[in-house]
Amino acid sequence: MDIGFIGVGFMGRHMVKHIVNGGHKLTVFDLNIEATEEIQSMGATLASSPREVAESSEVIFTSLPKPQNVEEVVLGEGGILSGAAHGTTYFDLSTTDPLTLQRITTAAESKGVKVLDAPVSGGTIGAELGTLCIMVGGDEARYEKYKPVLDLMGTQVIYVGASGSGAVCKIANNLIGMTLGVVLSEAFSMGVKAGVDPATLYDAISMSTGDTKAMQSYPDTLFKGNFEPGFKLDLGSKDVGLATEIGRTLGVPMDVSNIVQQKYIEAQNRGWGENSTLAVAKLQEEKSGVEIRTKS
Ligand code: NAD
Repeated sequence: MDIGFIGVGFMGRHMVKHIVNGGHKLTVFDLNIEATEEIQSMGATLASSPREVAESSEVIFTSLPKPQNVEEVVLGEGGILSGAAHGTTYFDLSTTDPLTLQRITTAAESKGVKVLDAPVSGGTIGAELGTLCIMVGGDEARYEKYKPVLDLMGTQVIYVGASGSGAVCKIANNLIGMTLGVVLSEAFSMGVKAGVDPATLYDAISMSTGDTKAMQSYPDTLFKGNFEPGFKLDLGSKDVGLATEIGRTLGVPMDVSNIVQQKYIEAQNRGWGENSTLAVAKLQEEKSGVEIRTKS
């Protein structure tokens, strides 16, 4: 099958490998040429624009940072819709808000292009292993048709309903993850200041009701002061913002979430946007006067 992929950053660079290994003909585009070099060496063709990707693909995927990037790549000059043939299918694997997806879908429908939202969860490790959860919203027949391609990238692919439903599920999930990041930093700084080693706290919590996937990486990351991304704080902040924006649009009070959003904005303003999302804990470390680090 002729498949196009736009955006080969922390997530996309892994996902494309599974598509190539699945025996498909892949065309890629990324503004950052360097990001595509390894993928070209695997046999993928490099395109010079999203339009060129669309012209040679039956199905197209994007994995782009923010909704604005997605909108530009689809609707902008030289974008996907300027090159896609009638009958093309487009999956957005990025975390994008439902309103942006709605604008894109309306424009795409007039050209006979189907848009499905297919955001992913599982991080760079899940992308590398091909074990992502992919939450798909949109035309169910197209979902079924291309599920074998999605299955190459994720072991947990689920259809969640009409267009935008995947985005809603993903944004709700990330709001929880980002909120836990803030709460965990408070719990661990309290525990450390009270004299318990973070590794001991981790072991005790892991066996108790507070256990959460959100702290799974801590022994290798936060406890060692390692804030290398994976998932950039800028993108985590975007996701909390998308959640509170939906809440405001629909009249849903989200008291705690709005406080959480301020934490991530503050961390961005401290210059930590390119760090991992875990860097939000540095605010709490400063305020509490302790670092959440194991001793050795
Ligand atoms: P990233 O910033 O590492 O990669 C994005 C890529 O898109 C970059 O290579 C960039 O050069 C490219 N790009 C940006 N604008 C472009 C444009 N106009 N045209 C072509 N290429 C363009 O981001 P990421 O971490 O890979 O995340 C991608 C999406 O997946 C985001 O929406 C993010 O929220 C979501 N996500 C990320 C993770 C994670 O752990 N990193 C997990 C789940 C979901």
